[in-house]
Formats: sequence, structure tokens, C-alpha cells
Amino acid sequence: MDDRLLRKLMANMKCAVCGQRYERANINVLGHREDLWFLSVFCPACRSQGLVAAVIKEGKLPEIMSDLTAGEQGRFTGTVSSDDVLDVHTFLTTFDGDFASLFSNGPEKRGGAASS
Ligand SMILES: [Zn+2]
Repeated sequence: MDDRLLRKLMANMKCAVCGQRYERANINVLGHREDLWFLSVFCPACRSQGLVAAVIKEGKLPEIMSDLTAGEQGRFTGTVSSDDVLDVHTFLTTFDGDFASLFSNGPEKRGGAASS
């Protein structure tokens, strides 16, 4: 991921449990599907782990879609309203948690802008 994007993203992300800002070393990029990025985060302050989904588009501030702690997965704290959120929400409600297959050979959109 672009370093500046990651830094912007970090500025918007706080631990859902204790409110602590994440540090670079505590953010692990799992992968992305088009503009939708998944990150796993770890809060050293309260030792909680979380899963973050964010829509990251060039030239736009990242939109954090969800900030799910391990204990409360499925509860969405994002309040952004756009088509992206609906997409993400739909995606996450059907997502089975298998990131490996998601980013390797999941159903790809053909003819999109994703190929380069
Ligand atoms: Zn915390």
C-alpha cells in the first residue's frame, strides 16, 4: 500500500476499545479487492485485535467502513453513507472470513479497472 495512504488511514483509525491510535507497526495489510482494503490491527494499549475494512481511492481520503474488534465482529461502527458502504456491508455480511481465497482466486470482476 502507498505509504501516504497508510498514514492517512492511520490518522482515521483508533482502537474501538480504548481509543488509542494505532501505530504503523500494529497495522497489517491483509489485502485488497479493487478499492476495498482489509487490515488487521492490534492495539498494544489494551491488547485487542481488530479487523478494519476501508475504501481507499486515489485522490480521496480513505473511508473507514468498519472497525471490528474480535469480540464484536459483525457490529458496524461506520456511519459513512454511500454506495461504497452498501457494497462493503453486503460484502461483509456474506464474507466467510477466508481471506486467503478472497485475495487469491475469489470471483473476479472481468473487464474492470482492477487489472493492470
Ligand atoms: Zn485499545
